[in-house]
Amino acid sequence: MMNRLSIIGIGLIGSSIVRAARKHGLAKHIAIADSSTEALKTAEDLKLGDSYHASPADAVKNADLTIICVPIGAYAEVGQAIAPHLKPGSILSDVGSVKQAVLRDLGPLAPDHVHFIPGHPVAGTEHSGPAAGFAELFDGRWTILTPLAGADANAVKTLGAFWTGMGALVEEMEPIHHDQVLAITSHLPHLIAYTIVGTATGLEDSTQREVIKFSASGFRDFTRIAASNPIMWRDIFLNNREAVLEMLGRFSEDLTALQRAIRWGEGEKLEDWFTRTRAVRRSIIDAKQA
Ligand code: NAP
Repeated sequence: MMNRLSIIGIGLIGSSIVRAARKHGLAKHIAIADSSTEALKTAEDLKLGDSYHASPADAVKNADLTIICVPIGAYAEVGQAIAPHLKPGSILSDVGSVKQAVLRDLGPLAPDHVHFIPGHPVAGTEHSGPAAGFAELFDGRWTILTPLAGADANAVKTLGAFWTGMGALVEEMEPIHHDQVLAITSHLPHLIAYTIVGTATGLEDSTQREVIKFSASGFRDFTRIAASNPIMWRDIFLNNREAVLEMLGRFSEDLTALQRAIRWGEGEKLEDWFTRTRAVRRSIIDAKQA
């Protein structure tokens, strides 16, 4: 149990951590900071924490564990504000969806006397804000930790135990590998969803109405993903540019191959492809990640 847990950014992920930490008795005092007075007020109304701070510097004072839960574009600002106030020997972590950019922006600001261990819970929804979080968000889902070479093993173990205490499964990974894996499993699917929903909104009015009416035929599932937080996703694409462009290149080649198969009536090729993808779905169900 942490004496004081500090959460900077009380949105979907921050408020889910707070709820899960409370539910599993992982922190005595939970200090919450957010730059949005509305988010802070909602968090207070929902009694999510023990203290509420407009200034992140106040929230991190004496904290054993600080977790940054803001969009990646705001990391440098938060890092500068909290760095001089972090408790020696404490753990500084985050939940950002891209890890090399976190090392770039936060790494140089993290004081030598704190254990800086970036993290990323591979769990979320399309909703935002303190009311959107829930304690079970991390249950059975992976959290990836990307400790730097030479990181203190006990601190990594403590942070891992905090996440498993909230129901998560924990794995360690190199930041570059994390960004490549997430580019194909998360970032590209979001880009495709944003594209297809955007394309549909560009159709003429009469067709657009029917797209909504008959959305249950597949379109609806893309709209859920395409409803995700625009600021967060802007920051993810700007900060994982290389890995996303690499995966997008491969995707475009495969799309062209399928386009050709359709044009030339190559039914066998299409069937083979779709049979292979169906098996992927079964593997995800078997891994209990469906
Ligand atoms: P969210 O619901 O929008 O919450 C972010 C909160 O941080 C908002 O209240 C925001 O206030 C606040 N904030 C922004 N800049 C700040 C600053 N400089 N200082 C203090 N607070 C600040 O976002 P989220 O979905 O929880 O995502 C947060 C992080 O989690 C992101 O880095 C994202 O990559 C990562 N993540 C998200 C998911 C997901 O599915 N959502 C999954 C895994 C990881 P304003 O609204 O006023 O800007």
